[in-house]
Amino acid sequence: MQKAVIFDVFTLFPEVFEPYLHTSIMQRARQREILTVRLHYIRQWTTDRHHVTDDEPYGGGGGMVMKPEPVFAAVEGVLGSPPACPLILLTPQGRVFTQAVARELAGVALRLEDDAQSDEGPRRLALLCGRYEGVDERVRQHLVSDEISIGDYVLTGGELAALVLIDAVVRLIPGVLGDPSGAIDDSHASGLIEYPHFTRPAVFRGWNVPDVLLSGDHARIDRWRREQALLRTWQRRPDLFETALLSEEDREFLASLQGNEGLRLED
Ligand code: SAM
Repeated sequence: MQKAVIFDVFTLFPEVFEPYLHTSIMQRARQREILTVRLHYIRQWTTDRHHVTDDEPYGGGGGMVMKPEPVFAAVEGVLGSPPACPLILLTPQGRVFTQAVARELAGVALRLEDDAQSDEGPRRLALLCGRYEGVDERVRQHLVSDEISIGDYVLTGGELAALVLIDAVVRLIPGVLGDPSGAIDDSHASGLIEYPHFTRPAVFRGWNVPDVLLSGDHARIDRWRREQALLRTWQRRPDLFETALLSEEDREFLASLQGNEGLRLED
């Protein structure tokens, strides 16, 4: 069965999503029904004349807070009570989104061969986008099942964070990328930063593409790419080695780097 993912997104600004979801890989994934995004406009679940979704915070202070009633009504109206799938609140207070979290949410195994053996149906996830000072705390306490932050900074609303999460999850679903090896080699996929890429021309302004990439020797190219990924990670993100999957050969290469602090990338 083709793996697919369905997102129910609860937002006060559904129009933010349209352009991105109608572009490139997201658009293709939707057309092929690998990705379904249902946008739910929270304001439609208000019951008052003015369709109010926010109010002043108890205790005073600046800013407004998203009222609990329309959020509960929207989520329970769409997903039932309790919600039929995980409901993720996008918030700077949540666990930090990483490639490992994207993989967890996609339900995709690290190796595509393992994944092919899984016959699970579509994965369904719901996302709740905050605005203003955020949602009333009772939404967090009694409705959401997970909280995710896309990084240690504060955005105006959860919509961009939801798009980041959707994009990172969807490109892991087999069949979304034209070349599935792309998702395997990507930075962070195996815990390393990816090797450098070059395309035509072979010489640009006197700068050459490394000879090995023109050699046609795929074993050598694979080895060079792996070493470049190790080198880049060593130089830029050594913290990633704490969790990266490394072979004996990788470890030997890393050991050979010790004492070569001056080594440049692409050498
Ligand atoms: N007062 C909140 C706080 O300090 O935690 C921040 C509210 S922020 C201005 C408005 C909304 O943007 C949040 O409710 C959340 O949905 C979203 N948001 C902001 N930064 C985010 C981040 N780093 N990751 C995920 N969502 C974020």
